[in-house]
Amino acid sequence: MSSRKGILYVISAPSGAGKSTVCRELLDIFPLMRHSVSSTTRAPRGEELDGREYHFISREDFLAKVAVGEFAEWAEVHGNLYGTSLETIRKSLADGIDLILDIDCQGAAQLKKKGVDGVNIFIMPPSYEVLRTRLVGRGSDSSEVIERRLLAAEAEIGQAGWYDYIVVNDILESAVESLKSIVIAVRHRTNFVRETLAKEFNIG
Ligand code: ADP
Ligand code: 5GP
Repeated sequence: MSSRKGILYVISAPSGAGKSTVCRELLDIFPLMRHSVSSTTRAPRGEELDGREYHFISREDFLAKVAVGEFAEWAEVHGNLYGTSLETIRKSLADGIDLILDIDCQGAAQLKKKGVDGVNIFIMPPSYEVLRTRLVGRGSDSSEVIERRLLAAEAEIGQAGWYDYIVVNDILESAVESLKSIVIAVRHRTNFVRETLAKEFNIG
């Protein structure tokens, strides 16, 4: 059995910056990595499937989970509730699987405040103009929703300063290459490698 513990990657971005796109690419590159499926009260969009993109649940069920402490973090984003299961994090890390949490800044800040050990990465669009173009181009939101998301983007970008890494998603391949480098570097951190090697070497 591997003594490898999983690593938590907390990734935030303003809507439309390309977070889902770059996370998909990362999951294709690293076999020991999964995407954490959050619970949300929002309705499924397009091709989204229950249990794949999200666990789609009612507000009542969501609040019941909050009451019993099921979530490591949760927040209201664009009028809907979103939360990450504590058990999903615990199991994934214990199984040696790296976990990507695609969550907003409020949730990321909650985890940091609780002292959860994770790597915080902010995906930045190259400009507001490009962000608007991507939101329009994605074709999944009404113009009213897009305006709301652009307003929210300013507040989210104002939080980027406390993240460990900021990756500008201009050319997709370059952004993915940068993220790949971050993951490889994190996997070589002494604290992480110490545990992995503990059975064979005492590195002090
Ligand atoms: P998010 O998950 O951050 O809301 P998406 O991954 O859905 O954003 O990306 C928003 C839109 O921008 C999608 O249509 C996606 O294909 C496109 N996109 C993502 N990254 C890039 C990029 N580097 N260059 C051009 N278009 C991109
Ligand atoms: P969308 O509805 O576009 O999928 O996601 C909207 C926002 O909610 C995104 O910023 C996404 O990162 C965030 N989000 C998704 N899941 C969670 C979660 O479990 N917790 C928190 N705090 N935010 C989440």
